[in-house]
Amino acid sequence: MFASVVSKFGGTSMGDAACMRRSAQVAARQGSSLVVVSATSGTTNDLIAVGTIAQKGNWAEAKKLIKKIGERHEKIAAELDIDPAQRAQMEELLEELSSMARGIFLLKDCAPKAMDNLMSLGERLSSVLFVKAMSDQFRQEGIPRKVHWQDAREVLKTDEQFGKARPMTDKIKQLCQEKMTNLESISYVTQGFIGSTEEGATTTLGRGGSDYSAAILAEGVGASTLEIWTDVPGIATTDPRICPAARPIVEISFKEASELATFGAKVLHPATLLPAIRSLIPVFVGSSFDAEQRGTWVRKEVADSPLVRALALRRNQILVTLSTPEMLHAHGFLAKTFKAFDDHKVSIDAITTSEISVSLTLDDSTLLNKKLLQELAEFAEVKVEENLALISLIGNSINHTAGLAKNIFDAIGDINVRMICLGASKHNFCFLVAQDKAEEALRRLHRSFIEI
Ligand code: ADP
Ligand code: ASP
Ligand code: MG
Repeated sequence: MFASVVSKFGGTSMGDAACMRRSAQVAARQGSSLVVVSATSGTTNDLIAVGTIAQKGNWAEAKKLIKKIGERHEKIAAELDIDPAQRAQMEELLEELSSMARGIFLLKDCAPKAMDNLMSLGERLSSVLFVKAMSDQFRQEGIPRKVHWQDAREVLKTDEQFGKARPMTDKIKQLCQEKMTNLESISYVTQGFIGSTEEGATTTLGRGGSDYSAAILAEGVGASTLEIWTDVPGIATTDPRICPAARPIVEISFKEASELATFGAKVLHPATLLPAIRSLIPVFVGSSFDAEQRGTWVRKEVADSPLVRALALRRNQILVTLSTPEMLHAHGFLAKTFKAFDDHKVSIDAITTSEISVSLTLDDSTLLNKKLLQELAEFAEVKVEENLALISLIGNSINHTAGLAKNIFDAIGDINVRMICLGASKHNFCFLVAQDKAEEALRRLHRSFIEI
């Protein structure tokens, strides 16, 4: 099979015509056979707002936002001087946006299925424009490759969990081989984030899901490399927005990078590395704004394994503590607890238990799931603490290193720790702190463990 490169460009890399041209230059230089794009930056948020406002019955406000989205794309289209066929495609999508929003307004209902279709318009619009940027780039450089627009919904089949759909890996592989042929001479441009059910209803993979789409499609076409092009020059030792002293990591293992993504580093969607690990596809992360920089390679085997490689922060956590005296010398309490979470498809981030209680950290959106909380209250006393953040140290042999915990708590000083999770993973030590102290704790840890 031809060893192809799959490149994904995020929202800021699609931000305006200049960003698109720069990203097209990168794709041409890398010889990408499949380019997966996000919506232009801000558009997914705007589309969600359109749905929410229309559902509430404020048509005037919804119309204003629809106009703003239209103008943003019209401006890029004009600057790229798109072809008549592309213009027709774009206008049809903008028409669909108005009709969808009107339907939501009339019904006063924006169910997850409608929201997914509405959100899909961001990636569908940006991908049409990017075809023009890529074709121009190839023409300018005399690259004899054709550029084809591919509707991701024809290949990325998912289940029906709207808003957080799960991809059907085998089916996707088969469709990729069928629909995206001649990767040696054709570069396909497709949308991240979106897919469709077997019946053809549009789905999305969850916010930030374009990275995951790119990884699934890389697996589908048997790619030799997956590239994630974003607005920072690779994966850094922590979020550079929080800690300016953060520095790019040259190489990181699949396991460490997975922990980093799962525990809050927005630079990769948490599921991105699943297909890459499964199919052993090395992943490169770099900046489309400065493609000359070294970037980060994520691989199975790496040259060094430091104790602490990076720090992650996961905001908006709650701590749910379930207590029952019946747990004393009894069995089945944890089984009941986990079953309740499983029934409601809520995932637990970290957990500690004592003889009569169990504490779990969860995303604060769980608070909206009143039914789950009621179910838990049927067999345990439930206490919920809010406004917390989970801080993780990610590295190697973390659960086997004497004195590490002492050094961590010395470093954060007077910041109170609400819960600690150590022992389960050799790659992760995490603990909860108050959300308003989290950034400071992260900077102190970075100073002690990384800037040494
Ligand atoms: P894109 O739109 O390209 O997908 P995202 O905004 O989703 O980009 O992800 C890139 C952002 O992730 C960076 O701007 C940075 O603020 C944030 N980030 C969080 N943790 C890290 C980290 N460890 N390394 C690099 N970036 C990080
Ligand atoms: N556009 C989607 C979002 O903003 C997906 C992505 O950018 O990865 O969440
Ligand atoms: Mg992202």
